[in-house]
Amino acid sequence: MERILVSACLLGRPVRYDGAAKRVDDEIVERWRAEGRLVPFCPEVSGGLPVPRPPAEIVGGGGGAAVLDGTATVRTDGGDDVTEPFVRGARLALDAARRAGARIAILKEGSPSCGTIRVYDGRFTGTFVPDQGVTTALLRRAGIRVFSEEQIEAAAAHLRELESPRP
Ligand code: SF4
Repeated sequence: MERILVSACLLGRPVRYDGAAKRVDDEIVERWRAEGRLVPFCPEVSGGLPVPRPPAEIVGGGGGAAVLDGTATVRTDGGDDVTEPFVRGARLALDAARRAGARIAILKEGSPSCGTIRVYDGRFTGTFVPDQGVTTALLRRAGIRVFSEEQIEAAAAHLRELESPRP
C-alpha cells in the first residue's frame, strides 16, 4: 500500500506558527486516513521551532530551491535568520517519507516549508509569488510527487497510477 506524507496541520494538529491547525475536510483524505496511509509531519516543528513561533518567509527570491542552494534565506518578520531549522526540517521530512516508502506528499499551500505553487514574497506584505517551500523543493529533488490540499483529486489520480498493475 502506498503511503502519503501529509502536512500535520492539514490533519488537525495545532502546529502552525499561530498555534492553530488548518484541518482539511475531505472525504478522500478521510478514506486514506482510515486505510492507514497517512504519515503526518511538520517540518518546522521537527526542525526545532516552537509553537507558536513568529511568521517566516523566504527572502532573496527563488523559493525553497534557492534556500537549499544557499542563495536565499528564511527570516522571521523580526529579521531573525531561521534558515537552519527550515532546512533541517526539510531533511527530516525526506527521512520520514523514505522510512515510510512514501512517493506522494500532500502539503499545505503557501507555507515557506510546505508551499507547492506559491509562497509569500519575503516582504511580509501578504503577497504571494509562484514558487515552492523548502520541504517541497527537497522532496521534489528526491523524486517525490508533491501536491497541495487544493489538488487532492490529482493526488488520488496519481496514487491510482502508482497502484495499478503494470501490463
Ligand atoms: Fe503545517 Fe508545514 Fe507549517 Fe508545519 S511547516 S505548520 S506542516 S504548513
